[in-house]
Amino acid sequence: MSALAAYAANPAQSRGRVHIEADSTEVQLVHRNQFVRDRDRIIHSSSFRRLEYKTQVFINHEGDLFRTRLTHSMEVAQIARTVARALHLNEDLTEAISLAHDLGHTPFGHAGQEALDKCMREYGGFEHNLQSLRVVDLLEEKYAQFDGLNLCFETREGILKHCTPARASELGELGQRFFDGAQPSLEAQLANIADTIAYTNHDVDDGLRAGLITMDELQRVEFFANHFDMVKREYPKLDARRMRYEIVRRMITTHVNDLVAQSRMNLAAAGVQSIEEVRAYCSPLIGFSPAIRAQTRDLKRFLFENLYRHYRVNRMVSKAATVLERQFAAYMQNQGLLPSKYQQRCAKAENKTQQARVIADYLAGMTDRYAISEYERLFNPLALA
Ligand code: MG
Repeated sequence: MSALAAYAANPAQSRGRVHIEADSTEVQLVHRNQFVRDRDRIIHSSSFRRLEYKTQVFINHEGDLFRTRLTHSMEVAQIARTVARALHLNEDLTEAISLAHDLGHTPFGHAGQEALDKCMREYGGFEHNLQSLRVVDLLEEKYAQFDGLNLCFETREGILKHCTPARASELGELGQRFFDGAQPSLEAQLANIADTIAYTNHDVDDGLRAGLITMDELQRVEFFANHFDMVKREYPKLDARRMRYEIVRRMITTHVNDLVAQSRMNLAAAGVQSIEEVRAYCSPLIGFSPAIRAQTRDLKRFLFENLYRHYRVNRMVSKAATVLERQFAAYMQNQGLLPSKYQQRCAKAENKTQQARVIADYLAGMTDRYAISEYERLFNPLALA
């Protein structure tokens, strides 16, 4: 790793872990600093492996070429690390946050998130970014000494992208920045934008491949049209598949280069000299130039209107809602239908809100295919139990 900038997060000065770990000896830290240990804990978690079978936009069984939450998370990490290296930020922390950012995502992508949020309306709602924090703080069961992965403050700070004041007040030190109007580390700011870069570009790629959107339609979007023209000028006879890939890779390059250049200017103008000054600064310092921000907003709007609301995606959204809502209602009514582990947790719950949270944990942890087969087992009298 290149030398760290003064404003980068430093693993030797981490604000630490919630549980003091008896075995975190000097010997263990020879090869792995605290942020590398966090990244490794994330990669070895079962929630991380389940990302392979969770939808990004297209349901996992629609085709083998589409992004899943796992490949999405890897693309986020790759983009974020490139930028971190260019800005001399901490690559390890950037990677850990990127790989963990979607750990709490429901099955069926945003459709699943919306459905579960609706189910949980009376019980505090459901938000996947808070759920990612719940996964790493509580739900992973691997270590003898504690629940969750016991990650460093800086990694958890990065996972918690946004938060309502009510929830922030339950999160103590971690939620404090939402009251103070403070910023998270630059690595956290970066992972957040790398998420946007990854999904806008790969959704263009997947949407074109699926035939849900076309290059002709995308010409209406300045960001796409600029890169289309660039490739067309250089390679007028290129076939559609290579054309698509050449455009997408150039769009990612433009995003990354713009992000690096603008963030460098922001950092220089702000004159921040430490992570404390980054946190206390009045606004985020990692960001696009105004022109690219506006173009990216237009591209996102196009995807929202033409891809995420496409009738074939709508059908998936509708089915996903049914699969999750019917299960949620059945478990709320009869907790005897839940697997034993969740029944036990429900038995310990002090009220209906806590019971609902246990059920949301169970549903959110499901992969797409597990949610569908569990639905079959519950509601199809002819399905084998
Ligand atoms: Mg994401």
